[in-house]
Amino acid sequence: MSAVPVTVNTEWLSDCSGCHIAIVDLHEKILAVLDSVTIQRCPVLTDIKDYPHATVGLVSGAIRNEHDRHAAMEMRKSCDLVIAWGSCAVFGGPAGAGNVHTREEIADAVYLNNKTTVSAQPPSCEVSPLESTVSPLDKAIDVDLYLPGCPPHPAFVFDALLALVEGRTPKATQESVCGHCTRQMRKTDVDAIRSNSDGIANADQCFLSQGYLCMGSATIDRCLSPCPQNGIPCTGCAGATMQVLTEPNRDIRTEIAERMSKLTKIPRDAIVKEIERTSKSHYSYTMATQMIGEKPTFLIRRWIAEADQDYQGAKYDTQ
Ligand code: SF4
Ligand code: SF4
Ligand code: SF4
Repeated sequence: MSAVPVTVNTEWLSDCSGCHIAIVDLHEKILAVLDSVTIQRCPVLTDIKDYPHATVGLVSGAIRNEHDRHAAMEMRKSCDLVIAWGSCAVFGGPAGAGNVHTREEIADAVYLNNKTTVSAQPPSCEVSPLESTVSPLDKAIDVDLYLPGCPPHPAFVFDALLALVEGRTPKATQESVCGHCTRQMRKTDVDAIRSNSDGIANADQCFLSQGYLCMGSATIDRCLSPCPQNGIPCTGCAGATMQVLTEPNRDIRTEIAERMSKLTKIPRDAIVKEIERTSKSHYSYTMATQMIGEKPTFLIRRWIAEADQDYQGAKYDTQ
C-alpha cells in the first residue's frame, strides 16, 4: 500500500448519476480502499462544494454547458491526477446524441412540447447555457486516465481505486464484450434482421447468428457482458473497442455488418443500411468523440455539421 494517503475529489458533469451510484455497488469491497483513501468532495456522499486539493479526481459526465466546463477546470486545478470516469466523460456518452439536434429542438422537446410537462416553461435564465455541442471531458481539460463503461463495472472501479492506493497502473483489457459472452457464434440460415421484440432468442446462440443486431464485437469490455448473458443484445454503452476507434478503416457498422453477414444469410449491405437507419442508437455513446466523427459515417457527420452550421456562434436564449 502507498505510504502517502490518497485523497479523492469527485465531480459529476452532464450525466445520469449512474457512475456515482456505482460507488455504492462496490458494497463491502469499498472497505478495502477506505482505509487508505479519503473521499473529500463527492456529490453523493459529502456536502463539500468547493474543490480542496486532492491526489485523484474522478470526473463523470460530459461537457454540455458552461457550468460543466467550469467544474471540470476546477477539478483539474485541484487534483494531481484526473480520471475520466464512465462513457459520458470518456466519449460524451448518450448525451452525444444531442449533437444531431439543435439546442432549440432539445429545449422544445424537453420543456415546451412534452406530453408529461404540465406547465410549459422554458428553463430559467439562471440555468447555465448549453454549449453548441456535447464534448468528452478531454475537450475541456487534460485527462490522465480513461475508465469507460456505463457505468464501469464495480470490478474496474475497484481496481482503479486500489491501483492508485498501491501506486500501480490499473488493469486495462482490450477485449470486446464478446470475450465474456458465452453465446456461441454459428453459421445459420437466418435471412432477415430481427428487432428485439421479434420472438424469443435462443439463449445459447450469438444474437448475430439469429439476426439480432448486437454490438458486443465492436464494444470494449468494461462490464463483463451482462446484457447478452441476460437475453439482451449489447447496445455498446461502454464505447467502441480501441481497434474501431483508432483504425481509420474500421467502423461500428462495417465491423458488425461484416461479422453478421458471415454468420447468417443476410446480405452485408442490408445490415449496413439498417445500422445507418438506426445510427443514432448505434453510435450514441461515442457520437461526440472526434475519432468516431471522423469515420466515414456520413449520416452522423451530416447531422452534426447541420446542427453546428445552424447555430454557429448563436447563444441559446433561455428566456
Ligand atoms: S456513463 Fe452511463 S452511468 Fe455513467 S453517468 Fe454516463 S450515462 Fe450515467
Ligand atoms: S456478438 Fe453479442 S451475442 Fe454474439 S458473442 Fe458477441 S456479445 Fe455475445
Ligand atoms: S453488454 Fe453492452 S450494453 Fe450491456 S453493459 Fe456491456 S457494453 Fe453496455
